[in-house]
Amino acid sequence: MARYTGPVCRLCRTEQKKLFLKGDRCKSDKCPINKKRGTPGKDPKARVGKRSEYGLQLREKQKLKRTYGMLEKQFELTFDKALRMPGITGENLIKLLESRLDNVVFRMHFASSRNQARQLVTHGHFTVNGKAVNIPSYEVKPGDVIEVVEKSKKMVAILEALKEVAKSGNYPWVNVDIDAEKGTFVSYPERAAIADLADIKEQLVVELYSK
Ligand code: SF4
Repeated sequence: MARYTGPVCRLCRTEQKKLFLKGDRCKSDKCPINKKRGTPGKDPKARVGKRSEYGLQLREKQKLKRTYGMLEKQFELTFDKALRMPGITGENLIKLLESRLDNVVFRMHFASSRNQARQLVTHGHFTVNGKAVNIPSYEVKPGDVIEVVEKSKKMVAILEALKEVAKSGNYPWVNVDIDAEKGTFVSYPERAAIADLADIKEQLVVELYSK
């Protein structure tokens, strides 16, 4: 599956927001956003003009799309699905993004970033309800159990990532058994509970695609 392969910190600098694309480095002083590095290609002393309505909507879409490591076409298809679901389209969109297998693997702390989660899924390190699944966009449903396959349970990358559970605990919508290296996707997250998306205005994304 196609994915962005360019420099990821540049994406955060473009949005002037931490998108947490590099695991532990994102929480360290090495993060360029912590160092207040400006937008790539722009003179830091240049005057910043007021953004148009379209500009604001576009930036919001880019932030959300890049947070989940998706390319335009995949993101558009997910939006189309959200539009066809009953309920509020913006919330449906977040629900669909959050239930992607690569994201759930990341939220369960089996990987330190979504990029790493996507790679681990593609390489066949997980089962869903006992069946091998290697599709990052696979839609996880409440009650589904994700488990590291037996041969990968001693993998350093996964064991290192799992240490984060002890540091920051579980997200409220997943339940992780560290020793068994498996977790349950308990429910879709409440929108307000997703702290790292607190400043994302998904309604602007809906307005952008509704033009
Ligand atoms: Fe790079 Fe992570 Fe900082 Fe983004 S949050 S700029 S990916 S280190």
